[in-house]
Amino acid sequence: MTQDELFKVLVAHCKEYGFIFPSSEIYDGLAAVYDYGQMGVELKNNIKQYWWNAMTRLNENIVGIDSCIFMHPRIWEASGHVGAFNDPLIDNKDSKKRYRADVLIEDFLAKIEEKVNKEVEKGRKRFGDAFDEAQFRATNPNVLREMAKYDEVHARYKKAEDANDLAEYRQIIIDNNIVCPISGTCNWTDVRQFNLMFSTSMGSTAEGANTIYLRPETAQGIFVNYLNVQKTGRMKIPFGIAQIGKAFRNEIVARQFIFRMREFEQMEMQFFIKPGTELEWFAKWKEQRMKWHVNIGMGAENYRFHDHEKLAHYANAATDIEFQFPFGFKELEGIHSRTNWDLGRHQQYSGRKIEYFDPEEGAAYTPYVVETSIGVDRMVLAVLSHSLKEEKLDNGETRVVMSIPAPLAPVKAAVLPLVKKDGLPELAQKIMDDLKYDFNCQYEEKDSIGKRYRRQDAIGTPFCITVDHQSLEDGCVTVRERDTMSQERVKIEDLRALIDKRVNLNNLLRNL
Ligand code: ATP
Repeated sequence: MTQDELFKVLVAHCKEYGFIFPSSEIYDGLAAVYDYGQMGVELKNNIKQYWWNAMTRLNENIVGIDSCIFMHPRIWEASGHVGAFNDPLIDNKDSKKRYRADVLIEDFLAKIEEKVNKEVEKGRKRFGDAFDEAQFRATNPNVLREMAKYDEVHARYKKAEDANDLAEYRQIIIDNNIVCPISGTCNWTDVRQFNLMFSTSMGSTAEGANTIYLRPETAQGIFVNYLNVQKTGRMKIPFGIAQIGKAFRNEIVARQFIFRMREFEQMEMQFFIKPGTELEWFAKWKEQRMKWHVNIGMGAENYRFHDHEKLAHYANAATDIEFQFPFGFKELEGIHSRTNWDLGRHQQYSGRKIEYFDPEEGAAYTPYVVETSIGVDRMVLAVLSHSLKEEKLDNGETRVVMSIPAPLAPVKAAVLPLVKKDGLPELAQKIMDDLKYDFNCQYEEKDSIGKRYRRQDAIGTPFCITVDHQSLEDGCVTVRERDTMSQERVKIEDLRALIDKRVNLNNLLRNL
């Protein structure tokens, strides 16, 4: 299966098993908006709990808040979002489709790279062991021609980006005959800036109404509550404020399922520190956050840092944690050293002093900030795309299994009476009633046991507990493990401890 096909299979699987549905589906959906179903919401809540507890419980100096989506409109002027939270937009006049001009150029560059890589692979096959990649890249005429084109377009693009030259974006697109994938034509409009914030109005009468924005990030809710939390929590620097909440961005191109949505959720933590210590803290949070990811057990090789070369004007260091999604390594989380820019701007715009009196220094200052910011939905996608597997079994059959890391799995155990009679459902129900206070369990009695196992595999349930006739006599049940499909007889009273060992989130947290 190609990566593209695999992705389509994932999207279909997510719908079929109640993880993720297109929003408003009976009205043909709403672009780039998705709803979480009965399985998706459990997975999402487990991810949020892992993050929240890792931040607020394991760090005595990090506390949480829950600020509102609606905020004073001046906040977005102060933060720079009203003026500069833009993407360059371009329309194709024939297809009437809208694109991000920068993405069209980046995709074009990626295609050149792909062509070069294919050429290199061809060479590798032809020359076998004698193949010298560096020499091939330096001498092969096709590679040299493509790379010259790449360098030329890349240099023009970077210059246009630095100068924010929208006309040059368009010229690059025209000069390289970058066409609309729908119409196949190069009939483009001018490029214009498009602000990504959604707005609405607040107030009951039209005259008195105020334009307000749906927050495009949760971070500003933390910055504007800095004084409240610091004072009421008697927080001493260094300390952090964590928040999980919805954010909204009117993304121009909304593809790739829940990777890029118009309504999504973020988990952000702003860490307030003494000026001058930011690079130390930046390095520490980079390490901490990577540890949090790798600890889940989806393979360290599937993560990498991508340090930013071009920094936002307020940042003095920034990196992304990228994950290997089915469409390549892409940003999952951002870690930024934001200096005192945000607090400084709010100080300026609100007229309120936002400072910290440092008793050790005997002086007051506006704290610096290192932030970690991860999209919950991207994290859900990372887990789902990594976990979905089609396996060939020894008996020639195939099974589809979601090997979701057990502490994050939506359902931890399924309790299954072998048949719907002879007192087996009653015993199964009793086991269910006992376990349900500790774990999210499912009781299922319909269909053959094999079919029920497959259904539980498809939603990623780590344990299936089967109650049979012998259980009535010896008080034991068969426990089947999802990944190995191994089965063992277990005493009913030992079930809780056996399940807990694998699925308890605290085991993950203890490793951090
Ligand atoms: P991208 O470059 O992919 O647009 P970004 O750099 O704008 O992302 P940030 O503003 O740093 O993203 O937001 C922090 C995190 O929020 C991202 O790492 C990502 O996980 C998540 N995120 C941002 N935009 C979206 C979106 N439209 N849909 C889902 N998650 C998003």
